[in-house]
Amino acid sequence: MADTFKAIMVSRDEEKKQSVTIEDITLDDLMDGDVVVRVEATTVNYKDGLAITGKSPVVRRWPMIPGVDFSGTVVSSNHAKWKAGDKVILNGWGVGETHYGAYAQQARVNGDWLIALPKSMKPKDAMAIGTAGYTAMLCILALEKAGITPDSGPILVTGANGGVGSVSVSLLAKLGYRVIASTGRTSEEAFLKNLGASEIIDRAELSEPGRPLGKERWAGAIDSVGSTTLANVLSQTQYGGAVTACGLAQGMDLPTSVAPFILRGISLLGIDSVMAPIALREEAWARLSTDLDAEKLASIATTISFNEIIETATGILDGKVRGRVVVDMT
Ligand code: NDP
Repeated sequence: MADTFKAIMVSRDEEKKQSVTIEDITLDDLMDGDVVVRVEATTVNYKDGLAITGKSPVVRRWPMIPGVDFSGTVVSSNHAKWKAGDKVILNGWGVGETHYGAYAQQARVNGDWLIALPKSMKPKDAMAIGTAGYTAMLCILALEKAGITPDSGPILVTGANGGVGSVSVSLLAKLGYRVIASTGRTSEEAFLKNLGASEIIDRAELSEPGRPLGKERWAGAIDSVGSTTLANVLSQTQYGGAVTACGLAQGMDLPTSVAPFILRGISLLGIDSVMAPIALREEAWARLSTDLDAEKLASIATTISFNEIIETATGILDGKVRGRVVVDMT
């Protein structure tokens, strides 16, 4: 009999009611692909919370093994770039949405989706960073390409206690920026200051509708919250500044006006990690391997086991998870 391994499976019944189970599966149950990877570490992102609870339509093929990112070792490969024993990372590409994902001890994927694990990292380090941290780096690269430097002025990070937020705070501080952290959990001030935030503001300051243009407070921002918060972030960005939009923790809407764009020349930069081209991913992971303080990363990350994924996925949507969660799959 073929070797079995554990997988989390989300399914829908005829009435589209979603259920989540842990099942024993074999390699034959996995979807097509030219590389099989032993998943050594994965993580729980906000998006995985949405997929497991069914709160938003992340899953677009049923049943599905959720989990949008993993790191591990190639077991077998028919892809020219990879051979057995290679250490790899996968983020996005529809994995955990339309292609069986990370919450199984093995994954069969398209080799074009993989990138090499930087030499300085272990799979667990890569997943302490995860899609959230890689997205944080995509935001920083976008700000840099827009000409923002530490001399431009402070950078605001919204959702600062979350995954994208906490890695952003840590990276920006290491790169010499003055960081303003916006959070609903002001009790976590010591945690955020330890990551490198200079100032903490209550997210309530930004979450209610405000004026089209406000006092100029920051040179740029990394926003993972969207909605009214992003509108207020834009209206308080200084002349010529840039803001990256990567998330929707408050909402998908953006009730703003053109005022910040036409009167202050502000740029709104969209960030997508899922379909980002390989060259940009490699640039982001290379920068993560040099620019992220290992000690700070350790302080952001909490390690859980495979059996704790489902509970954690629910908790992340309730704002109960601080920083990053690493799932040890070994
Ligand atoms: P987390 O849940 O770890 O962080 C989100 C944070 O947002 C929370 O910790 C909280 O921070 C804040 N927040 C939550 N609810 C609200 C609310 N109602 N109003 C204001 N702030 C709120 O998620 P991730 O960091 O993994 O992801 C953040 C966002 O980025 C998500 O929307 C996710 O879907 C998106 N994302 C997008 C990617 C892309 O490719 N564009 C890739 C990765 C993530 P605090 O407690 O500090 O207030």
